[in-house]
Amino acid sequence: MNPANYLEIKNKIPSNVNILAVSKGFKSQEIKTIQNIGQNDFGESKVQEALEKQLTLKDHKQINWHFIGRIQSNKIRKIVQNFKYIHSVDSFEKLQKISNISREEKKNPLIMLQVKLSDDPTKGGFNPEFLIMKWREIQELKNISLTGLMTINPKGLSSKENSGLFKKCRALADSLQLPDCSMGMSGDWEEAIDAGSTWLRLGSLIFGGRF
Ligand SMILES: *Cc1c(COP(=O)(O)O)cnc(C)c1O
Repeated sequence: MNPANYLEIKNKIPSNVNILAVSKGFKSQEIKTIQNIGQNDFGESKVQEALEKQLTLKDHKQINWHFIGRIQSNKIRKIVQNFKYIHSVDSFEKLQKISNISREEKKNPLIMLQVKLSDDPTKGGFNPEFLIMKWREIQELKNISLTGLMTINPKGLSSKENSGLFKKCRALADSLQLPDCSMGMSGDWEEAIDAGSTWLRLGSLIFGGRF
């Protein structure tokens, strides 16, 4: 991992677009290195792995932890207790459960709802029509702060196809008056910026390959 990598990427990205450094598979020491040069948002996709790093880094109070992995219902309490942001809420039932547990825990996580914009069977998320239909009910849930939508594009798309899906995500977020779109990864971040991403989730581009 080379800090110059990070600084180079940061210089290319407009200042209104946030970088989420996806540290899954990387060690606490590598998180510290990046944090030392100004990165405070880190994304993890496995609860246990994240909790171990959070413990090691407990004195690094400026770090904001984001959960970006598939949410298992029995892990929701741990996620609510330990993450400021949750990007990967992929069903109404899980959202309700997050709301209930957040109330018990006196928390108010920032939430991005994962939307399914293509029929990739490996990716979950809210169907857009369903999301619109449920929107009033969703807005009434307590102890959650809905800030945006999140999407993961299928692998192997052309640049144009990536752009098309990102623009759909942005248009849907705008129609629901949600400011954030968590979209764009190491392979498609440029298209995501053009389409109006506010959170790029970058792993290998910052940290190098995972082993
Ligand atoms: C791993 C992961 C990323 C980062 O992927 P890279 O290709 O390494 O940038 C982004 N989002 C999610 C949901 C991930 O699981």
